[in-house]
Amino acid sequence: MPELPEVQTVLDTLALRIRDRAITDIRILYKPIVSCSEKRFKQSLIGQHFRAFKRRGKYLLFEMDDLTLVSHLRMEGKYFILDEDTPFDKHDHVIFYLDDGKQLRYNDVRKFGRMELIEKDGEYESFKDLGPEPFSNRFNLEYCKEYLKNKKIAIKTVLLDQSFVAGIGNIYADEILYAMKIDPRSSADLLNDEEIQTMIQETRRILDEAIQAGGTTIRSYTSSLGVTGLFQLDLKVHTVKNCPVCHTKIQKTAVGGRGTYYCPSCQKLKKQTRIAITGSIGSGKSEVSRYLREKGYPVFDCDEENRDLLKKGNAGYEAVKKAFPECIVDGELDKSTLSSLIFGDASKKKQLEDLMHPLILERLKEHKEELLFAEVPLLFEAGWDRYFDQNLLVVTNQDILLKRLKDRGMSRSEALARLKKQMRVSEKKKRADKIIYNNGSLQELYDSLEEWLKEIPC
Ligand SMILES: [Zn+2]
Repeated sequence: MPELPEVQTVLDTLALRIRDRAITDIRILYKPIVSCSEKRFKQSLIGQHFRAFKRRGKYLLFEMDDLTLVSHLRMEGKYFILDEDTPFDKHDHVIFYLDDGKQLRYNDVRKFGRMELIEKDGEYESFKDLGPEPFSNRFNLEYCKEYLKNKKIAIKTVLLDQSFVAGIGNIYADEILYAMKIDPRSSADLLNDEEIQTMIQETRRILDEAIQAGGTTIRSYTSSLGVTGLFQLDLKVHTVKNCPVCHTKIQKTAVGGRGTYYCPSCQKLKKQTRIAITGSIGSGKSEVSRYLREKGYPVFDCDEENRDLLKKGNAGYEAVKKAFPECIVDGELDKSTLSSLIFGDASKKKQLEDLMHPLILERLKEHKEELLFAEVPLLFEAGWDRYFDQNLLVVTNQDILLKRLKDRGMSRSEALARLKKQMRVSEKKKRADKIIYNNGSLQELYDSLEEWLKEIPC
């Protein structure tokens, strides 16, 4: 299937041969290729000149005097420029008679190609869903970051998605990922800024080099071969036997149903395991976080992030300022006013959560570590377990909990009220992947954690 460079090569070849030629007649031999009626197609195009040759993704755009002819080659469509006495081929489906006596013939063995008429500079139905051109400024770091951030699918699948970026097909996707040193199966949301920048640069470099390579084809075009846009590519990984850099045998696998080539030694697989740590207030989940941090594991702390987001000037502060202006006192967020405002008012509490949760989630997703722990006090209550691959529930007996909370200066009734507001432990236990009981000494807690860590894939 022709990709962006091949389509560009077809256009450039045709531009060189038929620019400013007029269409004197048209014959359609296989009607489904043309999307409108035969009558309209002929009436609109006869007498028109091929003025400009443009491209959008893998679409060819022939700008005529009054309208634009859009052509998609799909699998095997190609054009021939032939003398009028050349016998027809059985795969010639649309014939344009030109005013210099030659014919432009659209030939398509598979018959998948399509032609459509649109207004000049008009929007073709399919362009709506087309992503930016790889060479346009719209294909930039910010755009890619935003697009990739929630894509828990293989990066190769995203590169092939025409709504992400237009024009990349199976061959160039493999080549781009090889140049990026990223395994095609890597989760798209895990690419960091530097890797995204590399992806943009390598996409442009590889497509540009291919377009340059196509230049030879444009000049050496012979009518017998047809304008296919195909040329000899200098491929580094796609259908290659050994890696040109490390000489490891190139592996073939399937990604999203497409044959995919990669070097297992040069291309790194990016994946992430996110594990949530939760438990009632006073259960010891913070002790778990502290221990993991000490061991060198990255731990994301939702409460800490929440506090930071609410600092003056940060996103949470701005959102609260807008929604609850009465909580801003002397330009600072007054936490006690905010607490009393949402205390006992379920709808206000919900409103605040709806403001803060997406902001915290966004920060969580900025972490691309292979193994990431997160302390999430209301994991199940907020339905956040869906953002994690696994969760750990820390459970402590009610008597011990109450004693700990008392040590923190909470009265018994206050502590009971706090515990009552949370989801029942029996309910949490049903949703937990792993439960650690914290009823004994710290050393006992650490020992249980060490046992658990042995089961964690990393
Ligand atoms: Zn290699």
